[in-house]
Amino acid sequence: MNEKAVVIETPGGAEQLKLVDVEVGSPGPGEIRIRHHACGLNYIDVYHRNGAYALPLPARLGMEGAGVVEAVGAGVTHLQPGDRAAYASQPPGAYATARVMPAKAVLKLPDAIDFETGAAMMLKGLTVQYLLRRTLPQEGLKPGDFVVFHAAAGGVGLIACQWARALGLQLIATAGSDEKCALALAHGAAHAINYRHEADFAARVRDITGGRGVKVVYDSVGADTWEGSLNCLAPFGLMVSFGAASGAVPPLNIGALAAKGSLYVTRPTLFTHIATREATQAMGDDLFSMVASGQVKVRIDKRYALADATQAHRDLEARVLTGSAVLLP
Ligand code: NDP
Repeated sequence: MNEKAVVIETPGGAEQLKLVDVEVGSPGPGEIRIRHHACGLNYIDVYHRNGAYALPLPARLGMEGAGVVEAVGAGVTHLQPGDRAAYASQPPGAYATARVMPAKAVLKLPDAIDFETGAAMMLKGLTVQYLLRRTLPQEGLKPGDFVVFHAAAGGVGLIACQWARALGLQLIATAGSDEKCALALAHGAAHAINYRHEADFAARVRDITGGRGVKVVYDSVGADTWEGSLNCLAPFGLMVSFGAASGAVPPLNIGALAAKGSLYVTRPTLFTHIATREATQAMGDDLFSMVASGQVKVRIDKRYALADATQAHRDLEARVLTGSAVLLP
């Protein structure tokens, strides 16, 4: 069969993405072959493409997909040919009609969840699962706690708004337009700040919280928000820096954490959390139940043909997308 995949030969702009013919072999031990029905678009794909996260070249792209298992290698017991499945996984390679990949990160997709939703929610939804459920080391988040979530109208952001509402959290959203703020509020944010108009978002957060500040800031924007994010935190608050869409955060002045109130900082990645099959399944089951129960609705605002990956990347970087987007082989 004539298979296609998106590759880069050189890191750079969106024009580097090329759709090429590829061979897809048979799965080896611990692997499966999956035929994609949809692939997720994620900001990490931009970091892979532009070299911010270096990949061995030439490289395939895409960390999230859903489809049907075609074959399983030796030792794979949790999947069978014909299973509907979805994943968030390394190495990249989801922008493809089909692929061979490690089985351990691939989960059976419940019948109630369609392929496009599966492809749009695994990397983003498992990220929200660990951010809200597994990241705070002490007693965890409690109903009524205030948190700040930046870029809250994006793919990860809209899932986080809904999950936070289900947990009873007071999520203060930030987003780059009034329309995006309205979207975050409609998905469960308690407050929303347009940080393009209101650069001192920390002052608004102080107002909203009666001067105290929030327990956790979830910051995937990076350079532009880092300093303001620290200023949003209550004493003993936790800064979760989990992305850098606006550029890398400046070097950390650790003394500032004392001056601002004995703060904590973490820089987590999903891939530590899904290092084992057991952890991936447990987190996936939590995500599937949130989606199947309707507490989290995965909003797919844009669908692109696989051949239009370049346009998808341009739109993602231009900040014109909201919610999730998928590529269709
Ligand atoms: P989004 O759909 O959220 O898109 C990124 C958003 O970042 C944009 O829509 C934009 O929203 C905001 N943004 C702020 N400044 C910029 C800028 N200069 N250029 C581009 N965008 C900017 O993407 P995803 O849902 O895929 O991912 C969200 C973030 O979470 C990313 O930073 C990603 O790397 C990170 N992530 C981290 C993981 C981890 O485990 N560490 C796992 C998954 C995702 P606005 O216009 O509202 O500001």
